[in-house]
Parts: sequence; C-alpha cells; structure tokens
Amino acid sequence: NREIHLASRPQGWPTEDNFRLVETDVPTPGPGQIVVRNQYMSVDPYMRGRMNPVKSYVAPFALDAALDGGAIGEVVASEADGIAVGATVLHQLGWREYALLDATAARTVDPSLAPVSAYLGVLGMTGLTAYAGLLEVAAMKPGETVFVSAAAGAVGSLVGQIAKLKGAGRVVGSAGSPAKVERLRTLGFDAAFDYHDRPVRNSLRVAAPDGVDVYFDNVGGDHLEAAISAMNPHGRAAICGMIAHYNATEPQPGPRNLALVIGKRLTLRGFLVNDHNDVRAAFVRDVAGWLRDGTLAYDETIVDGIENAPAAFLGLLRGENLGKMLVRV
Ligand code: NDP
Repeated sequence: NREIHLASRPQGWPTEDNFRLVETDVPTPGPGQIVVRNQYMSVDPYMRGRMNPVKSYVAPFALDAALDGGAIGEVVASEADGIAVGATVLHQLGWREYALLDATAARTVDPSLAPVSAYLGVLGMTGLTAYAGLLEVAAMKPGETVFVSAAAGAVGSLVGQIAKLKGAGRVVGSAGSPAKVERLRTLGFDAAFDYHDRPVRNSLRVAAPDGVDVYFDNVGGDHLEAAISAMNPHGRAAICGMIAHYNATEPQPGPRNLALVIGKRLTLRGFLVNDHNDVRAAFVRDVAGWLRDGTLAYDETIVDGIENAPAAFLGLLRGENLGKMLVRV
C-alpha cells in the first residue's frame, strides 16, 4: 500500500516537498470494518486550507500522516454485515491505495448507473455544491443573468449549465485560458472571458451589459469586487470559495466597493455544501435526468498514479484542470 503524507506545512504556495510517498502494509479489517482498493480520489481546493495549522470548519491535516478526502473504490475485504467484497463504495479516505474504514463511514453506490468517477464530481459533492449554491443559496429565478467564476472548473462548469437548464436569461463565465473560454462557449454559456486579458470589471461590463442578478463566487478578490459593481438591485451572491486567497500568507483585503451592497440591497451569502442535504433528492433526480438525456456535460482531468496525487493537487491550484481534477489510483 502506498499513501501520501503531509511532510510539512506549506507557507504560501505548496510544493512537492510538502508531501511524502510512504509505503505501508495492506491493512486487514477488524469487526465491522472493510478494506477498499481505491480507484479514484478527489483533489479539492479546500484541502489547501486544511494544510494550515488552524482550525476552520474542518480539522487541519496532521503532519506525518496520510492526507484524506473523497475517494471511491472496490471493497476487497469485509468483516462488516451489509457490505460485501466487490461492492463499490464512496468514502473519505483518499490519498492512499488501500483504505481501512468502518463500514458505517462508507456509502455503497451502483457502478452500473454511472462511471464511478462521476460520484466524486457531477453526481457527488461537486455537483451538489453547484446545484444548492445556485438554486437554494442564490435562489436563481428564470430569466436572470448569472455570472460564475472559475467557470471551467468542476463546480463552475456545472453552475453555468444548471443555470441554463433552469431558465437563466444569460449566463456568463470567467476562466483562465483561451481553451477554457472556448469550452464554456460549447457548454452553452452566453458569454465567457479570460480574466487575464483585462480587468474583470471591464470584461464583465461587456459580457453582462444589463447587469448581474446572481454571482456564484469561486474566486474572491477582483472577481467579487467586479461582480458587486455589476450587480443589479436585489442581486444575490453565493459565496462558495475564494481560491484567489488560499495561498496568501496575509489576510486579503475585502472588496473596495462593498458599500454598494447598501444602495443595491445585495445579499452576499456564504455556504457549505454539507448543510444542503435537504436538496440532495432533487439534485440526484435532476442531474441523473440531464445526464441520461445528454443535456448536461461534465469534464474530468485525470492524473494517473497515487505518486502523482501531489502534482494533481498543485496543478488544480494552478488551473491545469478542465472540469473535475481526479487521481486514478
Ligand atoms: P475547480 O475545478 O474550479 O479548480 C480550481 C480552479 O480555480 C482552477 O482550475 C483555476 O482555473 C481556478 N483558479 C485558481 N486560482 C485562481 C485565481 N487566482 N483566480 C481565478 N481563478 C483561479 O475546483 P472546484 O470546482 O472543486 O472548486 C471551486 C471553488 O468552490 C473553490 O473555491 C472551492 O474552494 C469551492 N468549493 C466550496 C464548497 C463549499 O461547500 N462551499 C464545496 C466545493 C468547492 P482557471 O484556469 O480558470 O484559473
């Protein structure tokens, strides 16, 4: 069994030196436990925060221990009632080839309904984040103009498409390369721009000439400031993530135009996907239906080998992914 440990805490941008590949024995299950051979593991932006020694809404990663996070694989040994060898399970012990866990910490999924990787992306936490953030947190209504940042990423690409499927009037996305902008056009975004080309507020003014009603924030920084300037009265922002801040070593300044929230009566609302299990049933019904009839597309960027999981994570922070970044273990 090979697993990835956190060797040291990154200061600013992480590097390969912060990680260590460690060999251990393949575990054997005790009563009530299973051993899973991981097939895919997720790398996610929130993991950067867990590398800092500060408590947030999730505990920090421990030093010199395996990292963890979403993973899916096949049960290869079981001492638990109800989960048989051969079952496919979703769980939280990624960053390793073999995971030992209590059966109660695993959720069985049907691998015949979708490619198993989809349970870590479009049909999993990523998809629910997009769905709940857009429809519940921001309460998007048909006809509205939606702007989403990191729009070619896992969450963002679903936000834009779900907005169109739920009747948005206009959907605008920003992303970090010409190829990503081109992909957004083929995904059905009405307008898309590369945020490197010119200040975001200038690009947004052209892309959303009638203003923005809903902003789905994955980035923070200049994107949030530009969105506040572009938002229409009673606009709502779902604050999902601020990836532009995650590697900063100092607290980042807030939007300079924050006072606009008063006159425009804006709502800026942060959220965590874990609080939105109440929409899970609607999410699964809608997304499974859209996947079946081909109206929802999802991209995956797959890196092979557990030894390359740190590189996949670093690549995610640098924007090397189109859609969901995954490691095939
Ligand atoms: P993505 O697939 O979107 O990958 C991250 C992307 O962020 C990169 O591909 C990169 O694309 C972009 N990016 C990186 N740095 C910057 C920057 N400085 N400015 C603008 N864009 C940048 O990741 P996810 O879809 O998994 O996550 C998206 C966001 O949602 C993150 O902020 C994450 O923390 C948040 N999140 C929040 C959840 C919640 O419960 N609140 C749950 C899940 C995710 P590009 O090439 O375009 O720069």
